[in-house]
Amino acid sequence: MQALKTRCCIAGGGPAGVMAGYILARAGIDVVVLEKHADFLRDFRGDTVHPSTLQALYELGLLERFLERPHTKFTELSANIGGDLVRVADFRHLPTQAKFLVIMPQWDFLNFLAEEGARLPTFKLMMETEATGLTQDGGRVTGVTTSSPSGPLLVEAELVIAADGRTSTLRQQARFKVHDLGAPIDVLWMRLPRRADDPNAALGNIGAGYVFVTIERGEYFQCAYVVPKGGFEPIRAQGLEAFRQRIVSIAPMMKNRVKALESWDDVKLLSVSLDRLEQWWKPGLLCIGDAAHAMSPVGGVGINLAIQDAVAAANRLAGPLSRGKPADADLAAVQARRLGPVRAMQGLQLLVHNRILSPALTSETPFKAPWIVKLLDKIALLRRIPARVVGLGFRLEHVTAPDALAGRAGSS
Ligand SMILES: Cc1cc2nc3c(=O)[nH]c(=O)nc-3n(C[C@H](O)[C@H](O)[C@H](O)COP(=O)(O)OP(=O)(O)OC[C@H]3O[C@@H](n4cnc5c(N)ncnc54)[C@H](O)[C@@H]3O)c2cc1C
Repeated sequence: MQALKTRCCIAGGGPAGVMAGYILARAGIDVVVLEKHADFLRDFRGDTVHPSTLQALYELGLLERFLERPHTKFTELSANIGGDLVRVADFRHLPTQAKFLVIMPQWDFLNFLAEEGARLPTFKLMMETEATGLTQDGGRVTGVTTSSPSGPLLVEAELVIAADGRTSTLRQQARFKVHDLGAPIDVLWMRLPRRADDPNAALGNIGAGYVFVTIERGEYFQCAYVVPKGGFEPIRAQGLEAFRQRIVSIAPMMKNRVKALESWDDVKLLSVSLDRLEQWWKPGLLCIGDAAHAMSPVGGVGINLAIQDAVAAANRLAGPLSRGKPADADLAAVQARRLGPVRAMQGLQLLVHNRILSPALTSETPFKAPWIVKLLDKIALLRRIPARVVGLGFRLEHVTAPDALAGRAGSS
């Protein structure tokens, strides 16, 4: 088997993996990021780039270049609940550089980070390279076995970071104990055409028996139709035309567009999970992002948390990695720092699953906005609270890992 040596091997080229790789490489650490797909072009990733992520980009000197890419900005968020349009979040007062949320297809965001990474001599991204297992020596993880286009490859590293998402191969290989918090919903994911004069909307529609979200992506809307877990089969049984008409009854503007759903192949079922590892690390291995704690799409905060984990991990580990192997205490410190914010956010997602989504999906009588949501619409000051929670999470991580390449021509 071919072999490659690096300081830090990161499995997974999603938001957590690419951001952790970028910050560590910028601190002068040799990093190899493994991504099993040939590109970032998968549409089930979520498109939200939060003010906390924009803050990290600002602190890394990348914000200006990032905002040159096509995107949509939201300073406020609204939802259509039971037919009433209610304002729920106002980002304009956040204590961050960017006081707005950006919607950008995640492949554009990841391509941007990968291109910035490629400018760093210590950053290596290997596409089409899948982490298949861990190598260990005396109870310590020492590397990752992979399958790559040129055959099996062993990547030896002082530290392996598992950022391979909610179906993480590496967390299974490490036999970490998973707490399944339960998710009562799944998502049907589809594209419907968008016209140039349509409003720029990331709009949640919630009513009796439905939750339907539309995210603007240029020429089309990425749509999420939420169903109770296991609820796709009964919908399929009623036929595609019934499903199209269901969408039109929720969002009349889709009337002449639902024919874009030509067959059930155009409707993808995405399984939602909400879980958390009891311990995110073992000697030589650390899990971050969804690999450590799978997030539900509720609130569009999973990417936010994945990036915040990446910043916290890179801040803590850049120093130890520059000297050699990080100690167990360093890995434990990353979990200790991120566990509280993750637990709080997952608690909120559970609350929304159980108090808003499940009642809405099973309701047969008109569903109205809960009083707390109505209050948000009425009192502008209160809308700053959801903006903080969604936009920044429960602990905003600032980039403190050093820039070893500062002053280099072309840096930042
Ligand atoms: C339907 C749905 C919609 C969502 N929408 C949003 C949203 O709008 N906003 C939001 O913030 N969150 C959203 N989320 C949650 C969000 O997708 C995750 O929380 C976030 O993507 C986690 O980032 P990550 O980097 O940890 O993992 P991922 O984004 O899952 O990235 C993992 C990466 O690792 C790669 N990989 C996997 N296994 C291997 C392997 N063995 N070897 C090499 N590479 C591997 C994968 O190809 C992938 O690129 C949504 C979730 C769902 C289910």
